[in-house]
Amino acid sequence: MKNIYSNIYKPTNNNLTKAKIIVDNGGVVAVPTETVYGLAANAYNNKAIQKIYSLKRRPSRNPLIVHFKNIESIKKEAFINKNFLKLVKKFSPGPLTYILKKKKISKISKLANKGLDTIAVRIPKEKNIIKLLSILKYPLAAPSANKSKSLSPTTAKHVAEEFGKSVKMIIDGGVCKIGIESTVIDLTTTPKILREGGLSSKIIEKFLKVKLTEYKSKIVKSPGQIGLHYSPGIPIYMNREKATQGGALIVFGKKNYNNHNIFNLSINGKLKDAAKNFFNILRIIKNKKFESISVNKIPNKDLGKAINERLKRASFYE
Ligand code: AMP
Ligand code: MG
Repeated sequence: MKNIYSNIYKPTNNNLTKAKIIVDNGGVVAVPTETVYGLAANAYNNKAIQKIYSLKRRPSRNPLIVHFKNIESIKKEAFINKNFLKLVKKFSPGPLTYILKKKKISKISKLANKGLDTIAVRIPKEKNIIKLLSILKYPLAAPSANKSKSLSPTTAKHVAEEFGKSVKMIIDGGVCKIGIESTVIDLTTTPKILREGGLSSKIIEKFLKVKLTEYKSKIVKSPGQIGLHYSPGIPIYMNREKATQGGALIVFGKKNYNNHNIFNLSINGKLKDAAKNFFNILRIIKNKKFESISVNKIPNKDLGKAINERLKRASFYE
């Protein structure tokens, strides 16, 4: 049988050097981050960025997040401001992405930010991507390592399931600690949350002592905000207590729920655990060929907001 996992590599120094050679030559590698696995390429190299779009079949209007090793390297590419400095000192490295005005002298490929006058920047925390960034002379553009619209990967094996051998190297950093994508905050005007994610917007609000409006404008500021996304390819029904015929049920905070079609996001009702398990459980259900997924009501607070945002987008199933 064909082994689909032979492109998964342990994060040894030797293998990270191999990954460096691939990206130095304009290739793409899959890397762990604390949020989800990313498909990474040299953010300065147009051709390398184009490869990410092709592999993911990502709509060309959807710009990428660029990953940096530190604040200094961000300053070369983007204008920073007071809110950025406050937030970055408190929450980075970590699951927070900042939208900043791009500098004219920035070397970031116009394909990565779709020619906008802004760029999305993040300093990840996961140690292996930081090790890789620290031996590179450029930042890495890295969207989630999955086909556009489908489930995000939280293990190296998930990435192999998505891309087989079309990605040469997948660095295995184990299970992602957070399990959902970064929170995206626009800092080019009054701070606005563009995407709920791994850092609860409530924590940011408390820290900045401002009320952060959720982005509801009809003008789409963040192209990734629209349409079907995070989808397991079968219908998802939110706020349900029962599965449909042939379907699976995802429960939250319930004990003694044992059946072949019942999956528990967190027995103890912890939203952090639910976020960490979320994409893995959806993927297991999909692989087991259930026909639909019904999901218990998830409290719409803290990381529950990010989970609900993803469930809503995943339930646009046509
Ligand atoms: P992903 O890389 O798939 O995790 O998605 C990145 C998210 O950041 C998407 O929702 C993008 O639309 C958003 N994004 C990236 N760059 C920008 C930008 N310059 N302005 C606004 N949103 C952005
Ligand atoms: Mg994604």
